[in-house]
Amino acid sequence: MANSDIRQRILELKAEKNALVLAHYYQPLEVQDMADHVCDSFEMAKRARAAEQQTVVICGVVFMAESAKILNPGKKILIPVMEAGCPMADMVTPEDVIKLKKEHPDAAVVCYVNSSAAVKSVSDICCTSSSVLRIVRSLPQKKIIFIPDKNLGAYVAKQVPEKEVILFDGFCPTHNRISESDVLRAKAAHPDSVFAAHPECREEVLNHADFIGSTAQILDYARKSEEKTIIIGTEQGIVERLRRELPNKNIYSVAASFICPNMKKTGLQELLNCLENEQWEIKLTDGEIAAAKQSLDRMVSI
Ligand code: SF4
Repeated sequence: MANSDIRQRILELKAEKNALVLAHYYQPLEVQDMADHVCDSFEMAKRARAAEQQTVVICGVVFMAESAKILNPGKKILIPVMEAGCPMADMVTPEDVIKLKKEHPDAAVVCYVNSSAAVKSVSDICCTSSSVLRIVRSLPQKKIIFIPDKNLGAYVAKQVPEKEVILFDGFCPTHNRISESDVLRAKAAHPDSVFAAHPECREEVLNHADFIGSTAQILDYARKSEEKTIIIGTEQGIVERLRRELPNKNIYSVAASFICPNMKKTGLQELLNCLENEQWEIKLTDGEIAAAKQSLDRMVSI
């Protein structure tokens, strides 16, 4: 089937099945183009919670679809590729969190949304990279256990020095791979540039950033910036989107291989199969949903 036919059929199926399609910014552009909304994780969670359609398709990785199910349990939540996991989310288990809670009984557990439903259920509140600072500052506890991303946690500790942040040893393999020499090389190649980085990058990378923010915040920064040349320190999907949106600016990736392989597992054909066969459906028990819902609800309401 030609791509134009696949696109046409996806549109028909979306209408026939009254399905809402949400895509993350790291998805391939061809998938983003078929979505009703392209979002970061925070907006995706909010849109999933407010969805009026009976079926919601999450083009992203599994924890995003799980979050959508937890926030809107009465809906059918589908993901085109069930194997699209997030290695960072798999680095922490509920047992790890329970152990940390025992060691630090006076601490609040702030859980990055990139985590399983089981881990969310033993956490006090979730956060995304766009909401993390606001959420940590809003908590009455002075001590924060931050899971699973040590880089985002270290960034929070620096930005919110009035809190004591206990870090866990998790990381995003895609962002953690970027080194200071990648940044220096990119800056040398584009001397009149500014550098915008995601806080999942290592501190040695963030130290060179002119702007640090979530995917949505980086997009906003690039759109509003007076600078003509911007080096992007996050996944390639953002670079491609910005190049298309801002043809008068020079947009570069900080490193050639800044690609999340899990986000790229979804293509047009996978989205078509998902809508046609209503697969793969996210199934969580009522108990799992109830246990994880509190921490997600708290995040969305702050
Ligand atoms: S970019 Fe990193 S954190 Fe995001 S889905 Fe991929 S592996 Fe997980």
